[in-house]
Amino acid sequence: MTTVAQQPLSPPYPCALAPWASDPQKSRGRRVPEPPSPPRNEHQRDRDRIVHSTAFRRLVYKTQVFINHEGDLFRTRLTHSLEVAQLGRSAARALRLNEDLVEAIALAHDLGHTPFGHAGQDALHECMREHGGFEHNLQSLRVVDELEARYAAFDGLNLCFETREGILKHCGARNAARLVQAEPHGPAQRFINGGQPSLEAQLVNLADELAYSAHDIDDGVRSGLLDEDQIMQVPLLHHWQTQTLQEHPGLLGRRLLGETLRRMLSAQVHDLVHCTQSAVQALAPTNSDAVRALPPLAALSTAMRLQTTQLKHFLFEALYRHPQVQQVTDQAKTVVTELFRVYTEDPLQMPLEHAQAARSGQHQALPRTVADYIAGMTDRFALREYLRLTGRQPFADALQRSAQ
Ligand code: MG
Repeated sequence: MTTVAQQPLSPPYPCALAPWASDPQKSRGRRVPEPPSPPRNEHQRDRDRIVHSTAFRRLVYKTQVFINHEGDLFRTRLTHSLEVAQLGRSAARALRLNEDLVEAIALAHDLGHTPFGHAGQDALHECMREHGGFEHNLQSLRVVDELEARYAAFDGLNLCFETREGILKHCGARNAARLVQAEPHGPAQRFINGGQPSLEAQLVNLADELAYSAHDIDDGVRSGLLDEDQIMQVPLLHHWQTQTLQEHPGLLGRRLLGETLRRMLSAQVHDLVHCTQSAVQALAPTNSDAVRALPPLAALSTAMRLQTTQLKHFLFEALYRHPQVQQVTDQAKTVVTELFRVYTEDPLQMPLEHAQAARSGQHQALPRTVADYIAGMTDRFALREYLRLTGRQPFADALQRSAQ
């Protein structure tokens, strides 16, 4: 009788992980068990599945703040996700955490976003108010658990628990109860019992915040909606611009802004690494499960937290609520709301697979099927559908601006 040499569940991590890091060899596993895929470890494999997913490719045409056709150089959900992965990996390596898991969570964290950013989500949530609501974190999990249709043996991407746990960043009590009923001890369990996710997931949450605060300043200035005098009112930006000018007197324009933001981000990441390291040393978790039972360990210092919050408040007031952004937001809400109305009234306006799913009750009732379909759209596909179904062309002002 021949025997097959037993393969390890996953190859060892190439550099020594900290004891509190998520070790891919000790993963809680996948919902559908699969044989290992050497030489990749289980979290590299998750990362690869995310990169090859349809939802990931769609991020390139989804709004971060500025709708896609307002200009070629603004961040999209895709470039935002790559920047989060870059910041997260830098911090993870310094802390000897699992970079592959950080990268997988970062690349997947916005997969559930609707077209047109938060405006699209708010509109879809309003449409779904009587049907369980819509929330992009939950939708990201739904994309990787159910909606991707690429594999013969399962729906979704069948990712590891640790990746799914990181994707489900927030979850309200009602949704948590529903998810836990379907999957006891799954990633929603911590929203019932209390507790934190892995340190890698905590790190990605902060990397997300740091990434968008910096790049939204950059895009805000590029768009002309923020000017230099305004941004100099933000203490963190003022500090790093002053430092830059001391070393490079006379530096102007985009180079000055680039240097300022680069230095600010470096300082924030250093602060994050230092504070997280201190918290880990103080509370000394013995492994990644001990991390889950402790208060949050990934953190900024009190001073940096204050300055980062000031920066976010500035962005909220000066950019996100800028009349020009608000105008686009209002039109985006109209597009999403109208699409929802038309598809709900006439499901056959959706591609056959979605219309059939709505009829069969697969993926729940009609409203959820419509919400899944709309949430998966890119900005430009949603606009094409809106034009086809209503004959109207929104965002004429934005199109005109981008042509100038
Ligand atoms: Mg994000």
